[in-house]
Formats: sequence, structure tokens, C-alpha cells
Amino acid sequence: MAAKQVIGIDLGTTNSAVAVWQDGKAQLIANKYGARLTPSVVGLDDAGHLLIGQPAHTRLTTHPHLTQASFKRYMGSEAALRLGTQTFRAEELSAILLRQLKEDAESWLGQSITDAVITVPAYFNDVQRRAVKNAGKLAGLNVLRLLNEPTAASLAFGLLENREQKYLTFDLGGGTFDVSVIDMFEGVVEVRASSGDVQLGGDDFSEAICQWMLNQQPELKAALPAVKPILLEQAERLKLALSNLPEASAELIWQDRRWCWSMNEEQLDHCCQTLIARLQQPVMQALHDARFSLQELDHVLLVGGATRMPLVRQAVARLFGRFPRHDLHPDEAVALGAGVQAGMVMEDAAVEEIILTDVMPFSLGVETAKESYGRLEEGFFLPLIERNTWLPVSKSKTVSTVADNQTCVLLKIYQGEGRRVKDNVYLGEMNIEVPPRKAGEVSLDIRFTYTLDGLLEIECQHNESPNASRMVIEKVPGQMSQELIEQSLQKLNDLKRHPRDRQENRDLLLRGSRLFEVLLGEERAWIDNVMSVFEQALASQDERRIADVRQKVYEALSQFDERGSK
Ligand code: ADP
Ligand code: MG
Repeated sequence: MAAKQVIGIDLGTTNSAVAVWQDGKAQLIANKYGARLTPSVVGLDDAGHLLIGQPAHTRLTTHPHLTQASFKRYMGSEAALRLGTQTFRAEELSAILLRQLKEDAESWLGQSITDAVITVPAYFNDVQRRAVKNAGKLAGLNVLRLLNEPTAASLAFGLLENREQKYLTFDLGGGTFDVSVIDMFEGVVEVRASSGDVQLGGDDFSEAICQWMLNQQPELKAALPAVKPILLEQAERLKLALSNLPEASAELIWQDRRWCWSMNEEQLDHCCQTLIARLQQPVMQALHDARFSLQELDHVLLVGGATRMPLVRQAVARLFGRFPRHDLHPDEAVALGAGVQAGMVMEDAAVEEIILTDVMPFSLGVETAKESYGRLEEGFFLPLIERNTWLPVSKSKTVSTVADNQTCVLLKIYQGEGRRVKDNVYLGEMNIEVPPRKAGEVSLDIRFTYTLDGLLEIECQHNESPNASRMVIEKVPGQMSQELIEQSLQKLNDLKRHPRDRQENRDLLLRGSRLFEVLLGEERAWIDNVMSVFEQALASQDERRIADVRQKVYEALSQFDERGSK
């Protein structure tokens, strides 16, 4: 029997895509509209049914209060994102999108899917990574691996051009910026270092253009925030046009008045300077951590839709003193790489030889106190695992009790590079119970592990207990508790779905189209008719009619069951 199919998902800020490993290669699958990219947009229609992808995207400007885009930016936070009268966390909106991607993959493959590899920005921290895993769980997916986006792109590239080389993957998407320095040799794709900025992407360039437009037409500021969605749409349009033309214009009509803009390259350049400047630091940091000089790189590989901007390409060329390569499809590379990883997880022979090593771009440590001018000052960061060491990595630290009869040790865990913990990301804390003894008699061995997913695991053992116990971090800010996940599952199940999108109807539609493929002549035409009647019933959204027709269609298809089953 063939290995269970695993899908690779690029869950992007702007667009998402799914790839599978089939016939010895990674292939993108088409969604139910026949497109390989699904806009990462979720909304409700006027009847309260869920809209996902393209149909939600088209309502961004017309129904902004019923539509949410770019929610990936809020992953790992408690931000409440509004759809009409309901609010959702970023994980929940992502789960709605993931569930759709899963269903589209199921229709495309003709089998049910549970296992997935999902890509994340390399610069996502532990909280954000856990949020993606939870989104997968809410979508009914078993997330086998989280894969860093630039690493995924490098995997896709590695299959394209498998020779010894050192390069930097420069991935500027809609909301995030990632760089990875890659050393490739003899089937090994080795990520030497990653860096990035999770608050920098093409969206910010559109926003900068928006500000420029408002400065040009200050009177329009009075129409904020109502005018914002259509203004942003025009800003986005200007940005795209200026990727091909030296000059472009935009206009919008607001309260019977026409507002016009004309923007040229120079103006674009000017209004995006601060954003462009922010591209440099992560590049330098990654090179430094990889211990590579600019000259040692064979090339720079561009990924992500926003690298289509000539402005960005010029900045990259200036930074590296050479023109970047854009061999990979900027929107598809990450998903394809996820598809390769899916093949690797399935242990497909064609990718057996590839060895991938990755890193986590953040240092991990605990809070400590330091003696300063004779007194103990708290709030310092003691790094245990330094950034950009290979995954998985495990380090342990021994601490002793400091007071007589102390019964617990509190450990606060942080991720980041700051000398003081307040500048780093707080991941939570652990209260470790210890037997009451004299000060210093109990010693604790605490082991921190970064898994292949870039997630933190903690094990703890004290000198009187021979068994190590796996610890759960408590008080994790921004993370969904098990209880919240349960509630969320219920909430997502209760959301109204268009009859066409509901499982029982999708299954029947799928069976019908499979029969259409295998049958011929009159039988085929007959199936075609039956399915048309069913589709009309679904479109009516009349539940009684649908149930009635579904039963008849079910009976009609059953007589062909032998031939329709794959
Ligand atoms: P993500 O991975 O975050 O979903 P993508 O890689 O799909 O993002 O890139 C989306 C971003 O790329 C958006 O901000 C979009 O405006 C921008 N983009 C796409 N095409 C172009 C273009 N031709 N010129 C400028 N920006 C573009
Ligand atoms: Mg992307």
C-alpha cells in the first residue's frame, strides 16, 4: 500500500498554497476554483455563511466589517479579530482557512487527509509556532512538522539545482521578512543561520503608499477610517503597477468626489525608504551568524511576492553588489518546498538522499539575578541555547536551592537576544517542586530542547528523583489553553457553511465527478444530469430541498458504486 499522503501547506499572510509529493516530485494542487494560490482571507456572506479565499478576498473593500485578511500577523497574540458580531483569534481564522485547504486537497487527491507539514516564518518565536500548530489542530490536521519558510524555498531550489553552493534566501512576503544562509553540498541542505523581521512585508509598503496618498490629498483624512479599505486597495494597485511601469495613477470616488493620484518610481522610492532600510540588518545578522562574508556567497535567491518590487531588487543588488536570482516562482516556492518535506516525512525513495539541517534564530534562556554594587538585581537574561545552533539541540543547566526548606524553584523562560529579559519574548514560567532540605542541598537539572520544529521542550530532574519529568510551561501569554481549544473547536463547527461546502454534500459531489470520469456515453450523460440537479439544489440553499435531492442522488449513484470506487 502506498504511504499515507501528507500535504505540505504554505500558510501565507497574503496567499496560501498546498503541495503534495507525487510521482517523485512536489506538485502544487489546485483549489476548488482551479487556482494554485488561495488568498488568506476569511469572511462571512450576508446570510452568515463562511467565505474563504477568493470569494472573501473580493469582498475586502465592499464588506470590510465581514472580512479579515493578513490575520497571520496576529498569530500568537490574543487579538480579537471581528467578523460581523463575532470575534476570532488569529488561530481560529487560520484554522478556517487550513480546513478549506485540507478539503481542497482531499477533493484533488480523492482521499482524505490528516497529516500535514506547515511552513512558518523562520523568525516566528515559540508562541507563534505553537499558535500555528494549534490552528492545524483546530482544522483537524495532524501537524507532523513545522518547516521554516526560507528553508522550504531552499529545499525546492535544491532539487532544481543540486550542486555545491552557498547562498542566501531572501523571502519578503506580505507580512513577514525572512533570510536564511544556506550551505548546500552532496544532497545536504544546511541552513547555517536565519534572521528576519515578522513585522515587515509587502503590506507595509502598501501602507506607506497609503500614507503618501493621504499626504497628497490631506482632505481625505477626514474620511478615515471609513475610506481606508478602498484607499488601501488603490495603494496596492499603485504598488503593483509600479513594479512594471515608471509611473502609475490611481483614483477613487468618495462621497461623490473624485480623488486622483499619480506616482512615479522616485516618489515610491522616497516613501518606502525606511522600510527598505530595515531589510539590511537581518541580512547582515544572518551572514554574521553563519560566519560567511558577502563575497563567499555564490548568489542570492529571491522568494516572496514583494521581491517583485524593483525597489526591493535594487536594494538587494546594492547590498550584495550583484543581481539576485529569481529562478523560483516567488509565490509557489515555499509550498513546493513543503511538498518536498512532505515527501521526506513519507520516506519516499526519491528524496531519501536529501539531508536537511535547520536552526532556530532566537537564543533561549532563563531569567537570572546579578550582583550589582553589593545587591542582587533581577531581570537579567541567561542564554542557555544560543541562536542559530542546529536543531534539534538540547542543553541542560543545574541550579540549586538558595533557602532552607525551599519547596519550589521558579524558572522564567525567555527567547531573544536582549541582555535584560524585558527586551525578550516571555515564553512562560515553571514552578518546580523540590523536597524541603537545607539551602543548596537540592540540585536541579533542567534540560531545554529545541525540537526540529523550533519548539521548546523542557525536562527536569532533581538529585533525589531518578526520573526526569517533562514539564509544561505555565502562564504562557498569548497561547490557547486546552480548554480554549475545545471551545474553539465547537465554535468553528457551529459556523454556518454554504451547503456546497458541507462534508456530506462535498462527498457526494466528489463521488459524482469520479463516476463521470469512469463512465462513458449515455451513462456519463445521465450522471452529468443528476449532478446538475444536485448542484442547483445546493445553490438554492433550501435545506429541505437539498436533503431530498441528496437522498435521490445518493441512490442514483449507488448503482454504479463498483465502478466509481477508486
Ligand atoms: P505571503 O507569503 O506573506 O502570503 P506572498 O509571497 O504571496 O506573501 O507576497 C504577497 C505580497 O507580495 C503582497 O504584499 C503583494 O502586494 C506583493 N506583491 C505581489 N506581486 C507584486 C508585484 N508585482 N509588485 C509588488 N508587490 C507584489
Ligand atoms: Mg510566503
